Amino acid sequence: MTDVVERLNFMHDLAAIVADIAEEMQAAPDRGKPADYIPPLARVDVAQFGMAVVTVDGRVFTAGSADELFSLQSISKVFALTLALGKVGSQLWDRVGREPSGSAFNSIVQLESERGIPRNPFINAGAIVVADVNLTRGAPRESLAELISFVRHLADDDTIAVDVEVAKSESETGFRNVALANYMKSFGNLHHTPEDVLALYFGQCAVAMNCRQLAMAGRYLMAAGLNPTSGHRIVPETRARRINALMLTCGHYDASGDFAFRVGLPGKSGVGGGILAVAPGRASIAVWSPGLNAQGNSQLGTLALERLATRTGWSVFDRADAPPA
Ligand code: GLN
Repeated sequence: MTDVVERLNFMHDLAAIVADIAEEMQAAPDRGKPADYIPPLARVDVAQFGMAVVTVDGRVFTAGSADELFSLQSISKVFALTLALGKVGSQLWDRVGREPSGSAFNSIVQLESERGIPRNPFINAGAIVVADVNLTRGAPRESLAELISFVRHLADDDTIAVDVEVAKSESETGFRNVALANYMKSFGNLHHTPEDVLALYFGQCAVAMNCRQLAMAGRYLMAAGLNPTSGHRIVPETRARRINALMLTCGHYDASGDFAFRVGLPGKSGVGGGILAVAPGRASIAVWSPGLNAQGNSQLGTLALERLATRTGWSVFDRADAPPA
């Protein structure tokens, strides 16, 4: 009985915690700067903040602009990695490392000394190798369609789609990604042409989602690889645990240590201002605010997750007996 009461109190508290954080973020003075390398991202209003928390028992708490679409960008690397591991399993690790890079997301410096093997699947170089693995359907368009239908399936939402304007701008301005792809090709670490691989990579970056959809799509990572509502297995439990480990250690580029220090949850950011965070066994969380900090991670998204983790006790470094969601 006390358990039930404690749980109900916590659910009530969780609704209040989410609402309070959104209100605090609305008033925050230092909001960071939106990505400015392509016009469709540069013009997004920094005043916006959204948040969605989906608990393991299927409750959804949202606040602020939780239904506003934003560009997924590097958060897509989590779904692309999941798909690639389903195709080639642990053979992927012959071509991509599993160590934090300590460098910017689009850095090329380590690639030469490490002979075209990117440090991890969440920096651009690593995600480009993952895209090469996912290019199994012939043309990039078909492989992108496969990724989108996977994300739709995860989120239980068939409306999720690519923002074509963003995709076009990505490929018009993606010179650094072109350099990374060609450089890895020179080491033999791409099997397809850089053009085809990048068409898939740019397309996946341009997927548009809102916080509610993103938190739904991340449910398998909080639920040991299962869709917690249907009970269907998405990935083996070990794989979900390992993806979470990579998100914790590599999900925020050269700010991954700082994110672990402040938030203490597996998380993956994107330059569209979104962050997907996972409280294992408890909740899948999406936050979005387009203003970025110096490392290209959402300024208020990080702050909001720091407050959520502190107030719920959900950090993976917290007491294991904090109330369950
Ligand atoms: N489209 C961006 C790029 O490839 C994604 C980077 C990011 O979200 N960090 O540069």
